[in-house]
Amino acid sequence: MTVRFDTKLVHSGQEAEPGTGDVVPPVHVATTYDRYAQDPPRYFYARGENPTREALERCLASLEDARYATVFSSGQAAAAAVLSLLSPGERLVSSAGVYGGTYALFSTMDRYGIRVDYADLTRPRPFPPDVRVVWVETPSNPLLTIVDVGETARPAHERGAIVVVDNTFASPALQLPLRLGADVSLYSTTKFVAGHADVLGGALVYSDAALHEAFTRHRELTGAVPGGLDCFLVHRGVKTLSLRVSRQVDSAGAIAAALAESPDVAEVIYPGLPGHPQHPLARKQMSGPGSIISFRCLGDPEKLMAGTRLFTCAVSLGGVRSLIESPALMTHRPMPRARRLAAGITDDLIRLSVGIEDPVDLIEDLTAALEAGR
Ligand code: PLP
Repeated sequence: MTVRFDTKLVHSGQEAEPGTGDVVPPVHVATTYDRYAQDPPRYFYARGENPTREALERCLASLEDARYATVFSSGQAAAAAVLSLLSPGERLVSSAGVYGGTYALFSTMDRYGIRVDYADLTRPRPFPPDVRVVWVETPSNPLLTIVDVGETARPAHERGAIVVVDNTFASPALQLPLRLGADVSLYSTTKFVAGHADVLGGALVYSDAALHEAFTRHRELTGAVPGGLDCFLVHRGVKTLSLRVSRQVDSAGAIAAALAESPDVAEVIYPGLPGHPQHPLARKQMSGPGSIISFRCLGDPEKLMAGTRLFTCAVSLGGVRSLIESPALMTHRPMPRARRLAAGITDDLIRLSVGIEDPVDLIEDLTAALEAGR
């Protein structure tokens, strides 16, 4: 039976256990498997195979109608698996705005003779002949720039490059990169996919068999595997993805509108606002504008962050609890200051991750802290 996205969230990889009928499959924690208790032997060692991990992978692949998903111990580990595709002399071209940790990881690549260029991919462009991977983060962290995945994939594929979309900010609930023309969707499942700020994880979702061989081999060799308990938590969390995200998007819309009216805010950056430079593209490419909002505050950013009671001052995003952070001081501190400022990540920039609390409480909390921070 063909089922839709929200049904897959609950059912994929959650087949009732034969024998007991458990509606939640048991969590497999063993690191090794008895050869003669299996017929035929399929499981050897948990760095290679684990049934709880495979159940999560079946679920994540099904959400994008992909052949494969490979899960990792973190989003960074998933990114490192992509970078393992590059050989000396090859080039990665990345969209200009990426998560600070991604930037830091890219900065290690010149050691291996691999060049990383940043480009404004909001404008279609030809890619250089030695490009092997085109990396798109959309919406980007923290400035929420939107890149047209289809328009980027076309010239990238002309060069034979693999197009990877970091879909962490949108989650599969709002954007399906493979359907837009990408080859690989990358997730920090730590964020919306798991959704409760209680487990780290990463995933790559794709359909190409050669990529599957490369990613699973890299994961087994480097040991960047999530354990069974972590996979269970991600899989439990993803069942409510659509419910959480739809609430978060509604609340973020209300909060962005309130911030746009605030005398203490110089600029609100949110793809759902008509003034966002890629608002029409966001409407075309995503089924909702997301629940991350950035804004430039007129008062003291540190006073603001210390003054909120419901928005917790912490990095990360996409969980049920609302968070506030300063990219300059926190998530993007690995970037050299000059580069950060040139990219628009100024000291007055604040990033919000909107959770599932009552939006009226969240607006009151922010308004009070903005007033106190004047
Ligand atoms: N990609 C994006 C857009 C992120 O925001 C993050 C983390 O914040 C990552 C990747 C890395 O994920 P992880 O922290 O799970 O390693």
